[in-house]
Amino acid sequence: MTVDPAKPYDPDNIFAKILRGEIPCNTVYEDEHALAFHDINPQAPVHILVVPKGAYVSWDDFSASASEAEIAGFVRAVGHVAREQGLVVRGYRLLGNIGRNGGQEVPHLHIHLFGGGPLGPMLAG
Ligand code: 5GP
Repeated sequence: MTVDPAKPYDPDNIFAKILRGEIPCNTVYEDEHALAFHDINPQAPVHILVVPKGAYVSWDDFSASASEAEIAGFVRAVGHVAREQGLVVRGYRLLGNIGRNGGQEVPHLHIHLFGGGPLGPMLAG
């Protein structure tokens, strides 16, 4: 089921549980503002999810309501993970799904970071 970004944040979503340590994940990076971990169902040789630590449903929610420090911290964390994973020289792709048309399934903001090989056309049709 896809996410309705107008709904209030559900503290029992799967990424909230990962952030609370109730469900395991394969962590690649963590700081005050963000957690990055491998996607359970990778769509590319490297497929990492970066999530903010705050309770934000989507990019819409985050960009409207997060503090400057949270936004800066999250954006810097995404860039840091890409560099740390050695993805910059050959390039990589960031993707954010928002709401129904975006196909968002987990109602906690996450950015997909894809890399490790050619990623093909932007949209698969
Ligand atoms: P969305 O469609 O919401 O943008 O992407 C959700 C992503 O979360 C999917 O790529 C899916 O494979 C991943 N995912 C769902 N549940 C889990 C989980 O429990 N652990 C991890 N690591 N990834 C998950």
